[in-house]
Amino acid sequence: MTADTHRWQSLPPERQRHQSEALQPYATPERGAPGWTSCVLLPAEADEVAAVLREAQGTRRALVLSAGRTGLVEAQRPEGETVLSLEKLNRIISMDIAAQRAEVEAAVPVDTLNAVLAEHGLVWPMEMGSTSAATVGACVANGSAGANAVCYGTAAHLCETAWGLWADGRETGPQTGPQWFAPAPQVLAIDSAAPDVQQGLIGTQGVLGVITRLALRLYRLPVQREAALIPVADMPAAMRALALARDVFGEDVEEFEFISASAMALVRAMQGETFRWPFERDPQAAFYLLLQVKSDDTGEDLAAHLYTFLTETLQQPDDALGYAPLKALKRIRHSITEASNHAMKALAGGRLAFDTATPVEVFGDYLAALETALKSLYPQVQFVAFGHAGVGGAHLHLLGTREQPVSAHAEALVKLVFDVTQEHRGTFSAEHGVGSKWGAAFAERAQPQVVAELVAAKRARDPGHILNPRSFGLDVLARQA
Ligand SMILES: Cc1cc2nc3c(=O)[nH]c(=O)nc-3n(C[C@H](O)[C@H](O)[C@H](O)COP(=O)(O)OP(=O)(O)OC[C@H]3O[C@@H](n4cnc5c(N)ncnc54)[C@H](O)[C@@H]3O)c2cc1C
Repeated sequence: MTADTHRWQSLPPERQRHQSEALQPYATPERGAPGWTSCVLLPAEADEVAAVLREAQGTRRALVLSAGRTGLVEAQRPEGETVLSLEKLNRIISMDIAAQRAEVEAAVPVDTLNAVLAEHGLVWPMEMGSTSAATVGACVANGSAGANAVCYGTAAHLCETAWGLWADGRETGPQTGPQWFAPAPQVLAIDSAAPDVQQGLIGTQGVLGVITRLALRLYRLPVQREAALIPVADMPAAMRALALARDVFGEDVEEFEFISASAMALVRAMQGETFRWPFERDPQAAFYLLLQVKSDDTGEDLAAHLYTFLTETLQQPDDALGYAPLKALKRIRHSITEASNHAMKALAGGRLAFDTATPVEVFGDYLAALETALKSLYPQVQFVAFGHAGVGGAHLHLLGTREQPVSAHAEALVKLVFDVTQEHRGTFSAEHGVGSKWGAAFAERAQPQVVAELVAAKRARDPGHILNPRSFGLDVLARQA
């Protein structure tokens, strides 16, 4: 697609950018090849967004939405389209401390909101590595899931009401976010490849319209938090530990993350002498679990409660107790992506990154099957797995070497990962969304009814096909339907 070079009539010139140095950051996605654009629009009010959408429909000029630009599926990457940046819709409108509710514009960064909420003992609990820039509206639109989704659900569940505009510029009216109930182990807990068009703009990832304002469900900051790193021999053992933790701590299991030995090795290599191992000796485990529990009871001895769980329920020997300050354990978990980036540069063989999920009851078997298949067919590929075991979510990084780059087998590797995921009733995109990156996978692997409903909703809400036109592969799907 060639770049759209015309000026827009619906916004004053000071809300438009056309100079190449101002455009470059908007064309560069978090991951993947840079895109290109010749215009960025910066509306500061919902009415201005509506005017832009109407002009786009009238002139059939395509728009790509941009907010904090931390998305990992290239939804925000323009290929000649004008970029519609929401960054100026960044006001906190009101807070009702007693009702635990905040009304905000869509592009307030998560950390900005939480810094204000913390003063009132409240939190909007989205814990991700990207929250300094990622915006609340994008999280809700994408159904993003943080490390604590096992406790609070996805951002869609943390949204009481969203207001916005359909892609034709008309107001949507209020749309209600779903309530979170910890799903049964046999149910897929998170699946951003199955958008529900009945939810309107919530979870449909910006292909039907733009969220401009939200009322968010807030939580009290827990009075206490404790965490431990638990070494386990395999993922089925990890899932047994999750079931036991749920029995003992119930809804106070705030996080249940897993780190494979290969992911831990990358962190140790990157951090070098500054790495702090929370064990007396290296337990040489296949996986490490980061269990975080919380309590709202000031009188409870949560540390003792956790210690009893580790030693008596899980029967961990004293020298395998990974007990350390929460911050130190979090530093390990949140360093994995950076460590993988370092390794990728050093190995010079590229990386394929996936974000899959399966029902919790088969998650352990799933990872074991995937590792076995990869090892037997592609022994040269380094398999790094980590993520949200509490909801059956896995971030998978496949690293190549200079001699054996992953690009040589990219198609076959993607197919292998997605086939094994599907065999375990899983999804190829748990929480990062579909974007343009996984458009072909959506057409091929999503439930036909989900595809048909999204295509029909796209036609109804975006008659000119102007908003995020390539996301979900909708440019191709709309032509086929
Ligand atoms: C280091 C790192 C860690 C991450 N960890 C996680 C994680 O743990 N879990 C997770 O789920 N994601 C994670 N992400 C991905 C990312 O942060 C989320 O997808 C987030 O929702 C993107 O927010 P953003 O404001 O940056 O959106 P952008 O990247 O600017 O936008 C992406 C797309 O979202 C849609 N969108 C944005 N705003 C709106 C709106 N107001 N209305 C409608 N559609 C909109 C559009 O389609 C847009 O193209 C991570 C990213 C990074 C870089």
